[in-house]
Amino acid sequence: MGKLRYLLTRMFFFSMGLRVEKWRREVGYLWSLGIEERNSVLERILQANKPINAEGAEVTSLSELKGPPSLNKKQYQRLNCGAKTTAAFKRKTSGTTGEPTSVTLSREELSRMLGVRDYCFRQYGVRVGDREARFWGRPEYSFKSNLKNFVLNRKVCFPSGEQDTDSLVKTLNSAPDYLYGYASLLLEAAALIEKNSISFKPPKCVICTAETILPAQKEYLERVFNAPVVEEYGATEFDIVAFECKEGHRHFVNPWLIIRESEDSLLITDVSRKSSSIVNYELGDTGYMDSTDCGLLGDSIYLRNLTGRSVNRFVYIDSETKFHSVNISYAINDFQKKEQKIFSFKIIQDEYGVVDLYVSVELSYLKDILKRYIEEYIKDRTGNKVVINIFDNKQLNGYTGKSYFIQNICMSNGATAS
Ligand SMILES: [Zn+2]
Repeated sequence: MGKLRYLLTRMFFFSMGLRVEKWRREVGYLWSLGIEERNSVLERILQANKPINAEGAEVTSLSELKGPPSLNKKQYQRLNCGAKTTAAFKRKTSGTTGEPTSVTLSREELSRMLGVRDYCFRQYGVRVGDREARFWGRPEYSFKSNLKNFVLNRKVCFPSGEQDTDSLVKTLNSAPDYLYGYASLLLEAAALIEKNSISFKPPKCVICTAETILPAQKEYLERVFNAPVVEEYGATEFDIVAFECKEGHRHFVNPWLIIRESEDSLLITDVSRKSSSIVNYELGDTGYMDSTDCGLLGDSIYLRNLTGRSVNRFVYIDSETKFHSVNISYAINDFQKKEQKIFSFKIIQDEYGVVDLYVSVELSYLKDILKRYIEEYIKDRTGNKVVINIFDNKQLNGYTGKSYFIQNICMSNGATAS
């Protein structure tokens, strides 16, 4: 049954002109080449495509990518509206900053992305088209979305409360090959599984995307789902950018993307993109890159640290004093390990010196302990005195997206976060 459904889904892709297999092989081939050889392939593609940078100049070699200019989201939308593609597929998100991003792709471009996805999944014995349980957004019950989920061999689950235990049980009973989705929703699902002692056949892997996940949370998911938990880093414009190998590196996996670090954002160039020009595109997330000898997956360069949305990097004590928000997540990770109480959270700052922390579980007496733990941790590590207020995340409305920290002071005052 599983095999038949997989074949049906792959046949569907094929009938849409999407060549997943062909491009997965190409991805594997390109990563098997040495750097020099791969670069010369990329140079040839650049010379043929001649993408245009943010200043309107043609780019025909890799060395031209090293300096400015970079391309922001607004420029990208402007530059590429009325794109020259024979419009095939449209991907759209509301975007984490509230700015919608829409990307139009040709068949070949979407095929490449699916090829990269298939290449990554196979690390864990899963293929594009295998049965997926998706923990993502809200379930839709329209005929169109039911059909889409059927064709894509996907079941959508939204485990947000007691009444959704049924939906979770049904999803797990369908024996998904892998689970895919937001870390916060997977954590909710794991909590329901523990609470109700739900038994199920373990999936081959659990893929967390879009949100930051702490090591303690990851260990917890691994224990409850009895499967490896893998971090994917992606973006609407590129699909998967980095994917975690079994050794824990988030390797860059799309061989046609050139990724650079800059002060305010990771910059990405897609040399293969024909329908639009993407040269040093500002992704809006900051991160640190590193290199490794590990050859399990993709590039030897990997994403060591992802610090999230650049605008959301700092907690402010006053207009002059600030510390990096990642310190709060480190404190929470330590607390979760120590107390063996795992939860997801969102941090919001609306006023100087005060941080509101929204948590997904009832903490009762641990609430005060957590508050003091974080306050002392921040005092020790950064020398700053901050007040932490803890709330139930049911009181949290309208905040979704990949960032665990939302800086509202920064946004409204236009203070520079650097
Ligand atoms: Zn690795």
